[in-house]
Amino acid sequence: MTASSESVRARIRAVEGTGMRTFWEPEPLVWARTEGCHVWDAEGRAHLDLYAGFAVANVGYCHPRVTEAIRQQAGVMTHCPSAAPSELRAELHERLLAIAPPSLDRVLLAVTGAMANETAIQLARSATGRRNVITFAGTYPGRTVGAVRFAGKHAYREQFGVAVDAHFVPYPDPYRSPWADDGDPGDLVLRLLQEALTDPASGVEPPACVLVEPIQGNGGVVIPPDGFLAGLRDLCDRTGTLLVFDEIQCGFGRSGRMWASEHEGIVPDLMTVGKGIGGGLPLAAVLGRSELMTRWKPDAVTSTFLANALTAAAGCEAIDVLREEGLVERSARLGSSALARLNGGLADNQSVGDVRGRGLFLGLEVVRDRTSREPDPERASRVQVALRRTGVLVGRGGRHGNVLVLAPPFVIEEDVLDSGLDAVVQALRA
Ligand code: PLP
Repeated sequence: MTASSESVRARIRAVEGTGMRTFWEPEPLVWARTEGCHVWDAEGRAHLDLYAGFAVANVGYCHPRVTEAIRQQAGVMTHCPSAAPSELRAELHERLLAIAPPSLDRVLLAVTGAMANETAIQLARSATGRRNVITFAGTYPGRTVGAVRFAGKHAYREQFGVAVDAHFVPYPDPYRSPWADDGDPGDLVLRLLQEALTDPASGVEPPACVLVEPIQGNGGVVIPPDGFLAGLRDLCDRTGTLLVFDEIQCGFGRSGRMWASEHEGIVPDLMTVGKGIGGGLPLAAVLGRSELMTRWKPDAVTSTFLANALTAAAGCEAIDVLREEGLVERSARLGSSALARLNGGLADNQSVGDVRGRGLFLGLEVVRDRTSREPDPERASRVQVALRRTGVLVGRGGRHGNVLVLAPPFVIEEDVLDSGLDAVVQALRA
């Protein structure tokens, strides 16, 4: 017997502590089953998920090969302590490095993206002997006490009394730059950073690292201008600062390349990955250069489930599936036709100020009007809810909460994607 969505929500509400994101809307969708690019609710209604469960189901939900790998592994070994080597762990490391940018040749595992970012920052601090961190408005590093210190949104810290632990500079947002009228926001941000890092009286201590998302995800799928990552690389090299890319959301094929930073051909010193790489299971990692990754003595970093066998099996298979099924190329191809379709459908829609994207990672700026560009989070929220009523799931992000985010699974069929996009265009017309 299957419980109704209403009763499931009520049972959880009755016993769960508050604070989860779940009930930030009154009637969240109750998930009962997933497959490919669809989610079924407790009543058996199918929903087309254009958000891949917060940009996780890159290879699709319950990909048959990933499911089979999990099934097989479940009969052999599920738990393997982090303190014990396993062949599966070696396999996972080798696969991660096979897809890593050149010169990143060591791995440290994590369970969540937040944990991977914490580890990356600690590595940067150990290697440089500095502790300051520079990051950007809109950065979303995760919500553990260790990671949330580097989050752009101060609201994430306020309820916990956690102190901020970074210097923030504006992310070069071509649509919403404070300096958009004065020139390339990428150049301006780089000039600001250059001042901060080279003026001995800037008030900014020499940083251990610059932490940056090559495409900002929760910030609203913000794609920095060409040359920005290259400029950061150069500035970091000149000031002895390490460059850390957070590819947790924009990586693993999401942008139409394996890593979003590949669009500019820039390689960081350390890179964090997560979300889709576990094929639906919780897996994240730091990838980095040997000289940064081999400084710690044993037991500097651990957690019980770092090297979990089930997670490793799923991760290995998800990486194989992504490569063997050409899903990164598919993300690029479907992404550019999706962008064209959205641009066509929304060309005369005054409530959509900007349509942008790379690969299957797309953002729609919902605004009061195109002239003022004033964010309209209420309308974005209404459209999101209306779409859900018609069986289409989309995300919502952006610094003001007004960006609709589309990040569908790469296995989505073309006609299904088209009909989903048409539904989005339609909902934005209403
Ligand atoms: N970094 C980025 C860019 C993310 O988008 C997220 C999650 O949305 C995280 C880090 C945190 O990952 P997790 O939620 O697995 O801790």
